[in-house]
Amino acid sequence: MTRGICILGATGSIGKSTLDVVSRHPDQFRIVALTGNHRVAEMLLLCQQHHPEFVVMAAPEAAQQLRVLLRDAGLKNIQVESGPKALAEAASMAGVDEVMAAIVGAAGLLPTLAAVEAGKKVYLANKECLVMAGNLFMERVRQHQVTLLPIDSEHNAVFQCFADGKGVRRILLTASGGPFRTWPVEHLAAVTPDQACAHPNWVMGRKISVDSATMMNKGLEVIEAHWLFDLPASRIDVLIHPQSIIHSMVEYVDGSVLAQLGNPDMRTPIAHALAFPERMESGVSSLDLAHGPDLQFEEPDLQRFPCLALAFDALQAGGAAATVLNAANEIAVQAFLEGNLPFPRIAAVVEDTLGELQPAAPDHLDGVLAIDQLAREVALRHLARHGSGMQ
Ligand code: NAD
Ligand code: MG
Repeated sequence: MTRGICILGATGSIGKSTLDVVSRHPDQFRIVALTGNHRVAEMLLLCQQHHPEFVVMAAPEAAQQLRVLLRDAGLKNIQVESGPKALAEAASMAGVDEVMAAIVGAAGLLPTLAAVEAGKKVYLANKECLVMAGNLFMERVRQHQVTLLPIDSEHNAVFQCFADGKGVRRILLTASGGPFRTWPVEHLAAVTPDQACAHPNWVMGRKISVDSATMMNKGLEVIEAHWLFDLPASRIDVLIHPQSIIHSMVEYVDGSVLAQLGNPDMRTPIAHALAFPERMESGVSSLDLAHGPDLQFEEPDLQRFPCLALAFDALQAGGAAATVLNAANEIAVQAFLEGNLPFPRIAAVVEDTLGELQPAAPDHLDGVLAIDQLAREVALRHLARHGSGMQ
């Protein structure tokens, strides 16, 4: 019996790594549904390689173009839909047993929740889901008794070292520090999107690459770890480790520290989660410690990386601060990628939005979505000020 897989965000970096792992094990998996946004040519290629039954392009015009291309390619049996309802349908349809949640940003929340509510096994790459709606999301995971396995490399590493969580003193999330760890701070104002996206160790989508450069990514991961492992901020530490060989660690009360190591390749956590509790080949080469780089560690510099401090503050503030943080960050990162905001002002937009909005934690999803929307509007206002003077 093969397991039916849906990949939300199949045309992205995690989506493609997942397809690479899955296609090494055709005896175990079949691709049932794939989703993308507007990269039609890439989705056509994925359809030719993996023959899904159901494909969603979030953008309607992209769905229309894909239908024509599939017909011309003789792939008439693949159903193509568009829009948010169709994304939720892909994640919850009969025939899908397991869902890789790899859409980037808040757009991933509703389809991932649809998978949870349909009782599918969920592999979670989309950390923004937990940052914006951690409480409600985890409540639904428990309610529907869903198996939720972390794909984010740090959380997957912690999961591998955590056992039943007994005797855990703290977890240590490692962070590479991104491309600007050693740059003079005064040079950061002139950073271009391509420089920010040139991560030293990982090849990732552009939004998470910018988040890694500001270290907001690590901040989002602290909040993600809080929800996944039920630990307060005081028991989650961040350690800079520029080589990205140790993917995270768990320290126990007896002083033991367990670490998970490996070459920086997302196919390892993906294969770990897909095979759990077994193991399977991922295509990742052996780690060569004898000939590899020296492993270094340092404390994060919060002056250089104010976004990390903002995320810790939002977690400690509680309420809906993390929802506001996530929304403002998405607006600021997009503006930076479009050339409308200087790199150091990403933190300023997030800080000003958090300063203006301190909503209580909503007890309904609609409340989360309303706060997300409001925070985006407020962030856009601050953006106009911080981005002024740019082309
Ligand atoms: P990516 O930009 O490469 O891919 C994003 C995917 O989401 C694409 O398939 C895109 O079509 C889809 N998408 C974007 N906007 C959408 C929308 N509005 N509606 C529907 N679909 C939409 O991103 P990525 O690097 O693969 O990251 C995906 C998620 O995984 C992010 O949440 C990221 O934080 C997380 N993650 C990524 C990595 C990594 O190594 N890339 C590691 C850990 C966690
Ligand atoms: Mg990570």
